[in-house]
Amino acid sequence: MFSDTPDMHSSTPETDALREAIFAYARTRMAYDPVPLDSPQTLEFLKDHASGTVTEQGMGGIQALKVFDEVLAPACLSTDHPGYVSFIPTAPTEAATLFDLVVSASSIYGGSWMEGAGAVFAENEVLAWLAAEVGLPETSGGVFVQGGTLGNLSALVAARHTAAGERERAGLPRPLRWKFICSTEAHSSLKSAAAVMDVDIIKAQVDGEGRLTGEAVRSALAEAGDGVFAVVATAGTTNFGIVDRLREVGEIAKSNNLWFHVDGAYGLAAILAPETRHLFDGTELADSFIVDPHKWLFAPFDACALVYRNPSLAKAAHTQHGEYLDTLTESGDWNPSDYAYNLTRRVRGLPLWFSLATHGVSAYRKAVSQNIQVAKEIGEYIRGRADLRLVREPELSVVVFEKLGWQLADYQAWSDKLLSSGTGLVVPSSHQGRPNTRFAIVNPATTTHLLVEMLETME
Ligand SMILES: *Cc1c(COP(=O)(O)O)cnc(C)c1O
Repeated sequence: MFSDTPDMHSSTPETDALREAIFAYARTRMAYDPVPLDSPQTLEFLKDHASGTVTEQGMGGIQALKVFDEVLAPACLSTDHPGYVSFIPTAPTEAATLFDLVVSASSIYGGSWMEGAGAVFAENEVLAWLAAEVGLPETSGGVFVQGGTLGNLSALVAARHTAAGERERAGLPRPLRWKFICSTEAHSSLKSAAAVMDVDIIKAQVDGEGRLTGEAVRSALAEAGDGVFAVVATAGTTNFGIVDRLREVGEIAKSNNLWFHVDGAYGLAAILAPETRHLFDGTELADSFIVDPHKWLFAPFDACALVYRNPSLAKAAHTQHGEYLDTLTESGDWNPSDYAYNLTRRVRGLPLWFSLATHGVSAYRKAVSQNIQVAKEIGEYIRGRADLRLVREPELSVVVFEKLGWQLADYQAWSDKLLSSGTGLVVPSSHQGRPNTRFAIVNPATTTHLLVEMLETME
């Protein structure tokens, strides 16, 4: 007797029913307009209401779906709710979300060309389009990784590997410490990358508007001493949406033979909008850049597009060598796993590809522009109110403001009220020790009208 396929891998009336129930759930979730915001829950509540689901015998899919629908899902915030404007929200198009279901249903291995050529080809079409917008040559290329944190780390690993190789070929010893330069307003993921890589960060000061300038990089370089391998500019800071002086910074990096990385996880999407495109002048100098489709390119979690000017430098740094992999690595094919700190990967660029193919680039330009317009309008409204003050002029779609006289506890109480009424999520933030709050607008359903309504409840 040979063994049978276990029941859970066979098609049965139960799996047929479950398939229909799951599709019905997904259909209902996608048709909400607007989706309920929902709210976080305590561990105690969830222990009381959703413990004991993992058992030897199983509870059945319909029952498990019921637990998710009635207890677990309502205990998760809908980050695509129009009033969710904290952190960086998400606002996937329907086409992108639908195609995420297809990706899940398709068991495509996205690490190698041999296994996933069709999907990898489509992902690369998207990366090539982004590279062209940014101004990188046709020979550039990269990979969709999980998020900007992994994208930044992977780019910096490639940068150091390249610098180490150059030193070795020049007969120079390794520096005591490797270092990279970024601004004081750069994203926290760079600090994480530095910790993982055991390298130092040289923080360059920003100007009065929160921007990294060429001058600041020059001073940082003068102080840094030996071992600098990269300069990182931020194309849209997470806190304020400020774009560094990319051309100045890039030119100084180039003239010092340093890798120039552009962290555009949030803001680089605004290169698509005609009114903000000029801010990104100089991106074409980048050796690598990232932009997160799950932030401002209307794709679902989780996806970061990571692109290198010269992908062979990334490949030299990242390719994994193992006996069972040799048949792939020796093929000469384009294997996405070679271009980042990853091996097995979901083809997470496909939802964006499908949505772009469906709607066309110009729909993306319009959607990004609309978010910027809303930021401008709410900025003007705030300027017109005597009790509110803009902390900085909005440049992209982040608006940071204070209510005069408010302490952190006031912002928190207001935030709690908005959340408990299901209106929105607007958590407190701070700048230089002063509490404030912030709208991050990346959802085309987030209207100026809705934001004004929220501001009218600040009392
Ligand atoms: C969000 C963000 C990151 C990190 O991206 P994740 O996808 O959250 O890992 C890095 N840099 C900037 C500028 C960001 O806004």
